[in-house]
Amino acid sequence: MIKAITGTKDILPIDIPKWKYLESIVESTMKTFNYKEIRTPIFEETALFSRGIGESTDIVSKEMYSFVDRSGTSVTLKPEMTASTVRAFMEHSLGKQQGLNKLYYVSPMFRQERPQAGRYRQFHQFGAEALGSHEPLIDAEMIILAHRIISRLGLNNIEIKINSLGIPESREKYKIILKEFIKPHFEKLTEDSRKRFDTNILRIFDSKADNDQQIMKDAPLLIDHLDEESLKHFETVKQILDKAKIKYDVDPKLVRGLDYYTHTTFEILSSSVGAQSALCGGGRYNLLAEQLGGNPTPAIGFAAGIERILLACENEKSLNLPEDNIDLYIVRMDKELTAEAYELSVIFRNENINVELDYLSRSVKAQMREANKLNAKFVLLIGGDEYAQKKLVLKNMETSEQIFFDINDLISIKEKIIN
Ligand code: ATP
Ligand code: MG
Repeated sequence: MIKAITGTKDILPIDIPKWKYLESIVESTMKTFNYKEIRTPIFEETALFSRGIGESTDIVSKEMYSFVDRSGTSVTLKPEMTASTVRAFMEHSLGKQQGLNKLYYVSPMFRQERPQAGRYRQFHQFGAEALGSHEPLIDAEMIILAHRIISRLGLNNIEIKINSLGIPESREKYKIILKEFIKPHFEKLTEDSRKRFDTNILRIFDSKADNDQQIMKDAPLLIDHLDEESLKHFETVKQILDKAKIKYDVDPKLVRGLDYYTHTTFEILSSSVGAQSALCGGGRYNLLAEQLGGNPTPAIGFAAGIERILLACENEKSLNLPEDNIDLYIVRMDKELTAEAYELSVIFRNENINVELDYLSRSVKAQMREANKLNAKFVLLIGGDEYAQKKLVLKNMETSEQIFFDINDLISIKEKIIN
């Protein structure tokens, strides 16, 4: 038998209510903050991501699902949404219509990673991107927005880490200092970190290897080498977060994977999900639009992993979803009345009442069992002596009250059900 591809997952009906609930929280919170939804294609030209995310990142160097299509174009299933959003923003000149564009999305993403708990090859993210403003206000808003969604989902065991990566000029100067510091320890670094030494030295801070961490423990920090402007920006972000009563820790070693970040970066972590503890990551990327051939556009965004957030919700038992139910189950007492029962279901469904009935020639007892299983609020009995006297019986499943209706008085039945 053919199975689902490694690292992909079916979302079965039993899990859908959780997903819908999370999506509804995302949607309504985004509305509160006036972010508008954007949907972009599942695949893009490979160059968008390799240029946009940066060749030296994990995503581009080893995780992308790229293939050459029949016309010979290299395309890639989207591994993240920022590059696609910026492409769409530039392609449709959204910046000309509005000074600040506040956008959000919910979408599947694709990365060829080693599958493990909280790490899949097709996974889902929601996130936001705000394009057009330099103001620290919007940096703070991104964090407040992400935090708001996560707290509305009832998650408590979370930690917000923030840092500033400043501007390229101060970062380049700092990289020289960092290189000098690491050089004497170079041979002791892991292979991955040695590669990063030339391609993306800041990311050595990301290494999980004990030995690397030991070396980096005493490394000079970017935050101590920021220019005045960047420090002021960061200070303002922190002040706004303080006023909004958002708790955070400044983590000078938080560098994040992507090349294009400037100024604020942040992560929201959960202690409820095991090793893959990052629920959400984000940051300012003032350089990206220009890197992709557009006008310089200051921008900031975040992306959150839905599977990990739902796992945290499960582990913290934070979601209190209402039980699934239906309004009405029609029990047909005689097989000869199958057509009549079905006709009733059509009439009630046209009134937007959710109705189920039997399709398996089940006995009356089995139909009642099914009605209970489906949590039916009402059962409508059709058949027997009552039907001979042109009556239908409506049973309230909670109170067991039975009411008799004339078979032609469907309006009264409907009234009873919806009230
Ligand atoms: P990680 O360090 O876990 O690899 P990342 O830096 O690659 O994360 P981002 O690109 O910032 O992750 O994506 C934002 C969020 O998307 C992550 O915090 C995580 O919740 C989720 N995420 C990333 N990769 C995966 C994956 N392969 N499977 C499930 N969720 C993921
Ligand atoms: Mg990753």
